[in-house]
Amino acid sequence: MRVLVPLGKKQVTGIVYRHRTEPITNDSIQIRPILAILDTTPIVTPHQLWLWEWISRYYLCTMGEVMAAALPAGIIDDNYKARTVTYMDWEQGMTYEQAQTLVLRSKKQLAMLQYFVEHYLPNKGIERRELIEGSGESPAILRALVDKHILQEVKTSVSRLIPYQGTIKPAFALNDKQQRAYQQIQLSWQQHNTVLLHGVTSSGKTEIYIHLIQEQLAQGKQVLYLVPEIALTTQLTERLRCIFGDQLYVYHSRFSSDERVEIYNEIKNSIVEPQTQKAKLILGARSSVFLPFQSLGLIIVDEEHDSSYKQQDGTPRYHARSVAIMMGHHYHCHVLLGTATPSIESYYNAYQEHKFGLVTLAERHAGIQLPAIHGIDLKRQYHRKEMYDHFSDPLVERIREVLEQGKQVILFRNRRGYSSYIQCSKCGQVLKCVNCDVSLTLHKHRFIQVGEEQLTCHYCGHTQTKPSHCPTCGGEWKEVGFGTERIEDELYSLFPKARVGRMDLDTTRNKNAHQDLINQFAQHQLDILVGTQMVTKGLDFDNVSLVAVLNADSLLNTPDFRSYEKAFQMLEQVAGRAGRRGERGEVIIQTFMPDHPVFGFLSQHDYVGLYQHEIAERELFHYPPFYRLIDITLKHKNNDRLLAASTLLQERLHQVFGDRCSPIIVPSVARMNNAYLRHILLRIEGYADIQRAKELLMESIHYVQSLRNCLGTIIIPDVDPM
Ligand code: ADP
Ligand code: ZN
Repeated sequence: MRVLVPLGKKQVTGIVYRHRTEPITNDSIQIRPILAILDTTPIVTPHQLWLWEWISRYYLCTMGEVMAAALPAGIIDDNYKARTVTYMDWEQGMTYEQAQTLVLRSKKQLAMLQYFVEHYLPNKGIERRELIEGSGESPAILRALVDKHILQEVKTSVSRLIPYQGTIKPAFALNDKQQRAYQQIQLSWQQHNTVLLHGVTSSGKTEIYIHLIQEQLAQGKQVLYLVPEIALTTQLTERLRCIFGDQLYVYHSRFSSDERVEIYNEIKNSIVEPQTQKAKLILGARSSVFLPFQSLGLIIVDEEHDSSYKQQDGTPRYHARSVAIMMGHHYHCHVLLGTATPSIESYYNAYQEHKFGLVTLAERHAGIQLPAIHGIDLKRQYHRKEMYDHFSDPLVERIREVLEQGKQVILFRNRRGYSSYIQCSKCGQVLKCVNCDVSLTLHKHRFIQVGEEQLTCHYCGHTQTKPSHCPTCGGEWKEVGFGTERIEDELYSLFPKARVGRMDLDTTRNKNAHQDLINQFAQHQLDILVGTQMVTKGLDFDNVSLVAVLNADSLLNTPDFRSYEKAFQMLEQVAGRAGRRGERGEVIIQTFMPDHPVFGFLSQHDYVGLYQHEIAERELFHYPPFYRLIDITLKHKNNDRLLAASTLLQERLHQVFGDRCSPIIVPSVARMNNAYLRHILLRIEGYADIQRAKELLMESIHYVQSLRNCLGTIIIPDVDPM
């Protein structure tokens, strides 16, 4: 339960985590009283406390930090307000006969009373608003009835969660291949807590999940269905809603704080009323692992490879897939990881280590072939001058044909904005952010005034108007690199008749914008959809026959040991949006490196080939899953202090860990939001005692933070960084 306690001069809310009965003998410890107990029943379950402890130990943060992430804000600050509706009911002891005599002189009062008598429900009354609107009388008349002690106001709290009004449909019957995979999963669970379902895009993984969920619900169990980004899964929500109705709860950060408190409480209360049909299936993003489950039977981690499962900024830096697997052990529930492009780590655990079960679904539903993938060599295209801006001639030709056939096109570019940066064509100056060590991205935003072009920092959000000329030498600007806005512009001049939509962070800030775009595209009010990774995720359209990637190289050129893996995943996923029904789809990839091995694997849809390529590299260069990584970020507004702290910490860690500790790393963006940054990377052998290593690391961090010349340095360990 929550308690109010004094802390210094303040009063704060905390959770009673443990209590002791033996007296404290240490005189230097002063005990202060609890001021108030805020709950009548526990709001956190023992399971949750267990999980919080595990996360704080594994991810090196405090229980308080886990709590802050785990509970909806409205519970922690006790700010939750129930939504109330005012009803009108009989005043105590009042009868209709008595009331009639009291209103005899007023026709209007009598009319309202008449309406009340005809419409009220026993023990409930009638909604105040309905009484006024229905009777057609004024609030003043109602006040008169209240003043005469005929009616009284009753405030009732009501749920913010809107019940499902649509019809419930049965699930599809599984096809033979799906049925076999379904049985293999069940069988595999007898030996493994966790099973990896590797099923190509559109093979019907979601249909299999639906059948597995039905089976759990029939046994009275809860199911947690994790998705990488709930905002991007409106199609999935609708699909589940019409099968599971009000058993489905959706939980994500776009909900208001009060809504989240209500969902939290309903899930918690489901143990008190085990017969309730509510809160049985919870669909949510990573933070829903923290909900107060009571009888969890299954956790599905859909698109398990997706890096959104890792909390990147803000403590605890947990990975929801790892947490789900731990929960599986603790709750003795099944865990299913599903994807068309498994993470190298999960595939290693399943395929090589047999820690997870492995089930494969290699065919699309209804025997549709996976899309054909063609590369276009940009070097050759530019050399022959067969380009129109960023579109090669063959791509333009294919888009034209597809549009003429009445089909739709998806274009993928993993960068938003108009151009990546602007540079002075005379002195070469690039405009940089005032707060960060990074160039500003040009945005033209069609919707703002003409000429009002903006420069934006994609790290801190700083925005300024684009100066007409270089502030140093007055030279003209050159626009370098291209983003989704630019592609949209080029499409308007290439295909003036086509209806083009753009889906990226900038066009989906409003609550329903993402959903609207999807609906428009699904109803074929748009011919072409341009977008960032948002278009690679989970969309299921009937009529898309061509998907094109405008420049795949930036995906491969990042200095990250996962870059090939991530590029393959992103490209295979976006390819998966093509030709999901009817004919085989087609994918065109423009690149300066057509011979790159990743494209070779991609053109064959050869995930296992990619895996074998990657796992060999990982072993050779000491990366996961063979080694565990801990990335340490150091941060300070004062660069000298930062350098002192980084040097000291690196020296100390090097003494303890030897070459498992990297030299100091200067990140590509070395100043962000006015703070300077450095990194140190620890690599610990997979078989080593990782918990001991973490203790040694924390000792060193605390030591450095206590030194005067390092004062104020923020040091953040990130376990299993992505
Ligand atoms: P995945 O999750 O593997 O990408 P989906 O479950 O989304 O695949 O299936 C792709 C499409 O095929 C969906 O529109 C789905 O409704 C349809 N589909 C899959 N399996 C069946 C089935 N057994 N019966 C009817 N339709 C199916
Ligand atoms: Zn910035």
